[in-house]
Amino acid sequence: MAKIAFVGLGNMGGPMAANLVKNGHEVHVFDLSPAALEHAVEAGAVAASSAIEAAEGVEYLITMLPAGKHVESVLVSGDALLDRVGSNCLVIDSSTIDADTARKLAQAAKDRCIEFVDAPVSGGVAGAAAGTLAFMVGGSDAAFAKAKPVLECMGQNIFHAGDSGAGQVAKACNNMLLAIHMAGTAEALNLGINNGLDPAVLSEIMLKSSGRNWSLEVYNPVPGVQEGSAASRNYEGGFMTDLMCKDLGLAMEASQSSGSPVPMGSAARGLFNLHQSQGNGRLDFSSVFRLFERKN
Ligand code: NAD
Repeated sequence: MAKIAFVGLGNMGGPMAANLVKNGHEVHVFDLSPAALEHAVEAGAVAASSAIEAAEGVEYLITMLPAGKHVESVLVSGDALLDRVGSNCLVIDSSTIDADTARKLAQAAKDRCIEFVDAPVSGGVAGAAAGTLAFMVGGSDAAFAKAKPVLECMGQNIFHAGDSGAGQVAKACNNMLLAIHMAGTAEALNLGINNGLDPAVLSEIMLKSSGRNWSLEVYNPVPGVQEGSAASRNYEGGFMTDLMCKDLGLAMEASQSSGSPVPMGSAARGLFNLHQSQGNGRLDFSSVFRLFERKN
């Protein structure tokens, strides 16, 4: 079993670290939030008083932080963990950040003879708790092979997307498409409702027709259509609109840096940003249905 440092124990990192403990690893944890740290200790992890202390003598260092600037600060500028860990340590960043920063971090690690992979996830808080996340990994074949057994303790589908940054590009593409089909599904269902259709009946028809898609199948945005959906619990919990807006921003950055046209992604970003600006940032992203819904 490996000695692992885990930095960033929020909604995702907390349950991910707990799954590493469940699989028998020795997990040394740190978070700026004492409450998050305490939860991880209750799950069997060893608390450290700093990120630097957590990373002492570990074979793996995993970060699960909000954005690129936090990961840069922990690995390079602030705690500078890349200067602390040994060359036998594999650094895995599972945060969702921009591909350019991921590539810069991989280079900074390489300059110190350390392997680094970007390994963002899909599957949300429920997937993190159940250990069923999908990991999209960018890095060398050797680094992927070393990361895989550890990632398998936290996820079910582990993909090698390509070289450094490729995991983050895959994540941006996936979430841009998710935003597009969620907005399209909400729009189509609302069109049906406004023309007298029952959204449950329309959903059933489209699920057996060519409009079928993931949002319609497992994440119906109309309240009451699907038991247990975020829509059926007032859009509480789930995947926040704020995070979708962040991910769409990353997709737009990837489109700019590669000169790729993303008209559908831009339209979806406009819709989700508008929805966010109306005070819905903390609601599940399927609440974008409310933008379309008739108010009287
Ligand atoms: P979160 O805000 O719940 O957790 C982030 C944690 O990082 C917090 O506990 C914070 O205290 C800690 N932190 C920040 N700076 C730190 C530092 N310098 N040192 C130590 N700890 C620090 O966020 P989350 O929902 O767990 O998301 C983490 C990442 O995963 C994000 O990049 C997000 O986009 C991505 N993601 C989230 C979801 C989701 O459904 N929540 C799904 C997929 C991917």
